[in-house]
Amino acid sequence: MSMDTPGSQSSLHRANLERVLRAVRMAGSLTQAEIARSTGLSAATVSNIVRELKESGTVVVADTSSGGRRARSVSLSGDAGIVVGVDFGHTHLRVAVGNLAHRVLAEESEPIDTDVSAQQGFDRAEQMVAKLLKQAGFRSDKVIGVGLGVPGPIDVETGALGSTAILPGWTGVRPGQELSQRLGMQVYVDNDANLGALGELVWGAGRGLGDLAYIKVASGVGSGLVINGQIYRGPGGTAGEIGHITLDEAGPVCRCGNRGCLETFVGSRYLLNLLNANHPGELTLSKVVQLAHQGDLGCRRVIADAGRQIGMGVATLCNLLNPRRIILGGDLAEAGELVLSPIRDSVARYAIPSAGRQLSVVPGTLGGRAEVLGALALVMSEMGESGVIRQPSAVGA
Ligand SMILES: [Zn+2]
Repeated sequence: MSMDTPGSQSSLHRANLERVLRAVRMAGSLTQAEIARSTGLSAATVSNIVRELKESGTVVVADTSSGGRRARSVSLSGDAGIVVGVDFGHTHLRVAVGNLAHRVLAEESEPIDTDVSAQQGFDRAEQMVAKLLKQAGFRSDKVIGVGLGVPGPIDVETGALGSTAILPGWTGVRPGQELSQRLGMQVYVDNDANLGALGELVWGAGRGLGDLAYIKVASGVGSGLVINGQIYRGPGGTAGEIGHITLDEAGPVCRCGNRGCLETFVGSRYLLNLLNANHPGELTLSKVVQLAHQGDLGCRRVIADAGRQIGMGVATLCNLLNPRRIILGGDLAEAGELVLSPIRDSVARYAIPSAGRQLSVVPGTLGGRAEVLGALALVMSEMGESGVIRQPSAVGA
């Protein structure tokens, strides 16, 4: 045990060490110059800390090039710790095992029944985690933490899943506690939209950005907001409920009890209803997208109208938060320009010009993997450094 007191040289050194580790962990790998830029530490301090972390085996340093110049990239050692991601969706369960150097070592997805009980769902998750850890060649005591994604709001105080139309039998279940007891591991829980945002921020279309919104359009409509590089959840955990912006107060009644919410125009149930009459057979959102790409005029019209309406919600978001990028996820994102172009048109029309000017609207690059990769990133973001630093140095370098 060190006897650090706040403000002492060794506690300052320790704090700097932790800043460097956190920056490297969230980025995957960084050059020493990039570490200095993102932590605000001097080049000499970064150089000393990296040398120390390298000697203890916490990080590895490799030659690379940056802007045509030789540079050295720093990443966490591949055996510094293992993280697990578990993503429960409307119709799927996806599990991934990765290391702190951002390598995904094993990953698997399987369909689950929409009315599966929470107990059956957790049984299956437990089996998949054990199987994938074995496949990756790691024992469970190497796991630093598990990120868990659920398709509904989590009560910040009780950890209970709020009312959800997506997994009706799960209301009131405390998913984090349940999975933690079963696995004997630390579990961090968040909703699917926040994890999609984290996934795209760390691994996908949002890399290197500090301010973005990830908008997921599936059965429900939600968003994950990243402000200054951090997910913004709000005190009750409900920030980002873009699906319940009122577009028409005389519109259809929404599951939230209001009328004419954005979700009642673009949620998959509502979109499919518009097409049922003249598209026989069982339609899904991804089938509609596929038909639209093949030229089906009705499907193209429905997707374009959805884009315009999503754009109205996005315009409001831009006026309030001025994000740099909007990343569209969920099945509707597969429509590409058929949906993105009407979103951009609406933003141009309804957002104040200075809020929309620097905005880009792009599809996510991770597809259906965004949430499970976000679950890995959630552990990296929430974990402390104590499990990672191998030989804490008591004296400043
Ligand atoms: Zn609503």
